[in-house]
Amino acid sequence: MDLYEYQGKQYFARFGIPTSPGGVADTVEEAVARAEAVGYPVVVKAQVKVGGRGKAGGIQLADDAEAVRRHASAILGMDIRGHVVRRLWVEKASDIAREYYASFTLDRAAKLHLCMVSAQGGVEIEEVAATDPEAIARLHVDPTEGLSLEAAADLVARARLDEEARGSAATVLVQLYGCYVDGDCDLAEINPLILTTDGRVHALDAKVTLDDNAAFRHPEWDAFATEEDLDDRERLAREKGLNYIGLSGSVGIIANGAGLAMSTLDVVTQVGGSAANFLDIGGGANADVMAAALDVINSDEAVRSVFVNIFGGITRVDEVAKGVVEALGRVDLRSPIVLRLDGTNAEAGREILTPYLSDTLIMEPTMLDAARRAVALAGGER
Ligand code: GDP
Ligand code: MN
Repeated sequence: MDLYEYQGKQYFARFGIPTSPGGVADTVEEAVARAEAVGYPVVVKAQVKVGGRGKAGGIQLADDAEAVRRHASAILGMDIRGHVVRRLWVEKASDIAREYYASFTLDRAAKLHLCMVSAQGGVEIEEVAATDPEAIARLHVDPTEGLSLEAAADLVARARLDEEARGSAATVLVQLYGCYVDGDCDLAEINPLILTTDGRVHALDAKVTLDDNAAFRHPEWDAFATEEDLDDRERLAREKGLNYIGLSGSVGIIANGAGLAMSTLDVVTQVGGSAANFLDIGGGANADVMAAALDVINSDEAVRSVFVNIFGGITRVDEVAKGVVEALGRVDLRSPIVLRLDGTNAEAGREILTPYLSDTLIMEPTMLDAARRAVALAGGER
């Protein structure tokens, strides 16, 4: 899960990383109230989960209430690369002497954490990597050893941060590492990490991606998740505990296993169709799960056909077939279903479904045949 900047900064603060005081606002008047609370000048910042807000005009300095009003009304409702701004973060403006970059991510190939630091912050790191790769100092951190202050100090020196910033920057790196590891992040990035004109180092931006696999040990993450902007289908799917991602096509997809679900999207695309969703029902493909899956897909107006692609492994196909039959009794489907059943007990599964086959419940022998049929039923090629 990606966090908004303001959530990322709240998360940073928990691990001691210095940020500017501020508050969120959903209306112009709220923005003024937040500004009055922290004192002028302030920065009014669009809260969207996409970078480059500054360039898009989504970040503005304001010296007084009138300016906050003007900027807040311009930014609320603004479309930044497909993301509509619904919320602002208003914080005390900083006097910037220098802008740096710092981040932690996992380097899967090296099987180690990777810290990157650069004296060229404020611009996209990909840009720095392309134009001046030498300007990024890297350090691999062994998770069993952690990051010492000495190693962090050495890294900021290698990155050639200004002398006066190095001590504080090294401390921030150790704090950021704590946030990244103990806070279970996939990414913890500060861009820019600034040196202020009065010699302090702090986080002016926050980009945090939480590792969803660690959600079980972070009940506090629920507060972030409920604020997430899901569409109606995704919200319904989440309520039903499904692993669902809404897409823009017309073929609804149900598959067991994330790999098979992705292959199913591919094969639908390959035969000229477009998927309405990604949905992995996992191992427990019983009637409840199947009914929930069909319910969510049925709620999507764009869906014209449903492709159920099951490969029985530990989940036996006859169990899935019983689930489908029972689910069909519960859900009043708008669209025809095309089934492809294979794997463990496939024959028994097909037998269970045979009596129910019709114009709207169709079985095909292979994944490719089923995809062609589902795409044809959805109205053919895009
Ligand atoms: P991004 O464009 O989405 O990455 O948004 P950032 O939060 O990184 O802000 C972009 C740029 O706005 C920064 O690199 C700064 O140059 C500028 N900016 C943000 N906050 C302040 C501030 O408090 N004071 C000043 N002077 N500039 C700021
Ligand atoms: Mn930034």
